[in-house]
Amino acid sequence: MELKGKTVVVTGSSRGIGEAIAEEFAKQGANIVLNARKAIPEEMLEKLQSYGVEVEAILGDVSDFNSAKHLIDQTKERFGSVDVLINNAGINRDKLVMRMDEEDFDVTYEVNLKGSFNTIRHALPLMLKQRAGSIINISSVVGETGNAGQANYAASKAGLIGLTKSVAREAAMRGVTCNAITPGFIETDMTAALSDKVQEAMLGQIPLKKFGKSKDIAETAVFLSKSEYITGQTIRVNGGMYM
Ligand code: NAP
Repeated sequence: MELKGKTVVVTGSSRGIGEAIAEEFAKQGANIVLNARKAIPEEMLEKLQSYGVEVEAILGDVSDFNSAKHLIDQTKERFGSVDVLINNAGINRDKLVMRMDEEDFDVTYEVNLKGSFNTIRHALPLMLKQRAGSIINISSVVGETGNAGQANYAASKAGLIGLTKSVAREAAMRGVTCNAITPGFIETDMTAALSDKVQEAMLGQIPLKKFGKSKDIAETAVFLSKSEYITGQTIRVNGGMYM
């Protein structure tokens, strides 16, 4: 897909990987819809607009079905279409299963997995109608490997891979693609919260011996959205952490 002038919705894009994805698509000339629950920094809007594209910020919790509907409806109203949907909003509530509360499990599942279903549910009919579109779900390497202390997070991210493949199969006949990206350890606020000891242990598992940058994920998202022949795939961007 040629991205110039197209409309890209990036959930969870007030910082970190989502912010980098939004910038990478703006560089391609795409109009951007930013989303987060709390706030989108004004400087971010200005930075993206400096690429000569239109930018809209729509706040809302993607785990709420009606908020997700509002996000997609408002995008359609402002730009007339949704061409690329990036489900990036995600949270973690790390604990060993034996100490995990029901709420820790539910909230992680609701944002990471159900949130992606919610936006897809509302955007897919538009994409099918226009016979074009790209959906990219940001999963995680731990959705493929599992991780002690992240059963809720890993389960939600593994579920996202199943969701991706099923949507890919349903949407393919209309030329709409759906893929997942599984990042490894990427330097953001989410990973900065981990202790030095945990970070050191993670580094020991990465053959390329460095943490990834948000830009590594953003460039992969742009690549996937441009391809019209990659669908149902899980693209690993993890420094070789899982092969
Ligand atoms: P981050 O720095 O914590 O940013 C998360 C973003 O999501 C923020 O903009 C946050 O804004 C938004 N968000 C959270 N809950 C939301 C909700 N219910 N509805 C809408 N927006 C919501 O995270 P990150 O490290 O950039 O991670 C981005 C994605 O990559 C996540 O899905 C994460 O699981 C995945 N990932 C990250 C890594 C890594 O190493 N960093 C590795 C693998 C996968 P508000 O708080 O204002 O809502």
